[in-house]
Amino acid sequence: MADETVDAVVVGAGLAGLYMLHRLRELGLRSRVFEAGGDVGGTWYWNRYPGARCDVESVLYSYSFSPELEQEWDWTERYATQPEILRYVNHVADRFDLRKDITFSTRVTSMEYDEDDASWTVATDTGEVVRARFCIMATGCLSYPKYPEVPGRDRFEGESYHTSRWPHDGVDFTGRRVAVIGTGSSGVQSIPLIAEQAGDLTVFQRTPNFSYPAHNAALAPGVMDATKASYPALRDAARDSRAGIPLDLPEHSALEVDDEVRRATYEKRWGLGTLFGVTAAFTDLLLDRAANETAAEFVRAKIRDVVDDPDVADLLCPTDHPLGTKRPCLDTNYYATYNRPDVHLVDLRATPLVEITPKGLRTTECEYEFDTIVYATGFDAMTGALTHIDIRGVGGQSLEKKWEAGPRTYLGLAVAGFPNLFTITGPGSPSVLSNMILSIEQHVDWIARCLQYLDDHGLRSIEASEAAEDGWVEHVHQVGEFTLYPLANSWYMGANVEGKARVFMPYIGGLPAYRERCDDVAAHGYEGFEVETC
Ligand code: FAD
Ligand code: NAP
Repeated sequence: MADETVDAVVVGAGLAGLYMLHRLRELGLRSRVFEAGGDVGGTWYWNRYPGARCDVESVLYSYSFSPELEQEWDWTERYATQPEILRYVNHVADRFDLRKDITFSTRVTSMEYDEDDASWTVATDTGEVVRARFCIMATGCLSYPKYPEVPGRDRFEGESYHTSRWPHDGVDFTGRRVAVIGTGSSGVQSIPLIAEQAGDLTVFQRTPNFSYPAHNAALAPGVMDATKASYPALRDAARDSRAGIPLDLPEHSALEVDDEVRRATYEKRWGLGTLFGVTAAFTDLLLDRAANETAAEFVRAKIRDVVDDPDVADLLCPTDHPLGTKRPCLDTNYYATYNRPDVHLVDLRATPLVEITPKGLRTTECEYEFDTIVYATGFDAMTGALTHIDIRGVGGQSLEKKWEAGPRTYLGLAVAGFPNLFTITGPGSPSVLSNMILSIEQHVDWIARCLQYLDDHGLRSIEASEAAEDGWVEHVHQVGEFTLYPLANSWYMGANVEGKARVFMPYIGGLPAYRERCDDVAAHGYEGFEVETC
């Protein structure tokens, strides 16, 4: 028996859930938002580790839906820190009076579709049960933390922290013997700052990543004013770009220019300090292994230039995956940190992690003792937050079971067998390959338009057809296979989680083509969807 009936339940109050709630209100729909965290912000609420900041420039990594909001907010740095981004999200929540419909510290545990009634029953870990016509999953692509799959974590007698579950009052590493496990973006951002404070730091690396210098800096006086004056053009340029970040497009293959031109091109891109700058230096870097190797070798040479000890430099040089096929990192002083006498690097490929012990951790070689362990070990990405909710669609079908061999969606927005349920930045959409706030806004706007259409046409439910879903899954797969991405053991492929299906999950076709497809589907009466009249 439901405690309350509403038009829509939104799960998650990060950037996606907040904007969705705003749009639902504009449609006049009564909504409830459930958020496991204690406040708004999602990623920016949870990931409070030292050095956490965005890797898409803040003037682009910000909402575009409200010109007034754009005009009243000033960013202070090129890549804002987590506290600054969280202040921004809080400002948005207050400005649009969003909190009153959000229930915090409440996790949605199950959702069940009732075919007779065309509605969802949503249950939470606080015992509340709500019925809703629509469910919108704003649960995040990178929100379900992943720990190393070794035993003993609960036996450790020191302090331990996951980067995405960081204490709100910070961690004092002064004088401590610290281990960081993981060298993805979270490790790369936090390691230099932890090293500055800790007595001694040991980094446990399984796979080295490619990282570019962020060239972060305070925004010079006048930059925000100029940006505000040109926001409409800047947003258009972002929307028209492949990844939501305007970039000069390459014209040549890396293999058709001579060494000097190639080197100068990479130098220029390296100097930009942007996420996709180097991979977009030539047309074929993500398509051709030999072309990619020229860029990879350029970055390796940069690492060797900075790191004094050649053996350490070698360990830090990625060789097992093409550049760009794992999400690259943007850093400040990452490689230079390994020149400190109190920072050590352990290669977990040579000596894998075996267990966490009461005093520290053990590899196949020896036991290391620590006061503090930091798990920078990432997420069950893209599907984890969804499959950890017991979601039951038509005929009681479980979403987790349906996705056992990899996620299946239509446009990353809807799932066959799960009517009236939408996924914001779901698998099969550009999501994590893009400036995510832009992809979030595109999805939220599309969903809002769809809900309006249903009401305008007296329809009670909408569901992706199996055929449309099959076609889209096949297309996502084919486009992915055309690139080098499937060659990496990345979280894009589900490879970081033991037992997870290996499937390239995001859509790599680029934002403009993707948006056009979504808009076409809507313009043609929601082609590929099946609807039921009231
Ligand atoms: P999230 O922010 O992940 O929010 C999802 C929310 O749903 C969470 O608060 C979670 O608690 C809640 N939730 C999940 N399951 C449940 C449940 N069952 N019940 C209740 N609540 C639930 N992207 C970029 O484009 N640029 C960047 O610079 C960038 N930097 C990043 C830095 C870090 C450290 C990380 C981890 C990710 C970064 N990302 C970045 C990706 C980032 O996740 C997105 O940009 C964006 O913040 C996602 O917003 P969201 O609302 O979709 O998801
Ligand atoms: P991640 O990229 O998945 O990195 C996790 C790290 O932990 C990897 O080095 C991984 O090694 C290692 N690891 C995992 N399990 C391990 C085990 N059992 N033993 C040893 N090592 C293990 O996670 P993340 O760094 O949190 O970043 C995830 C994503 O969030 C990023 O790619 C990015 O999209 C986003 N993010 C962005 C920023 C930013 O700069 N704005 C910051 C943080 C996160 P393997 O590579 O071998 O699996």
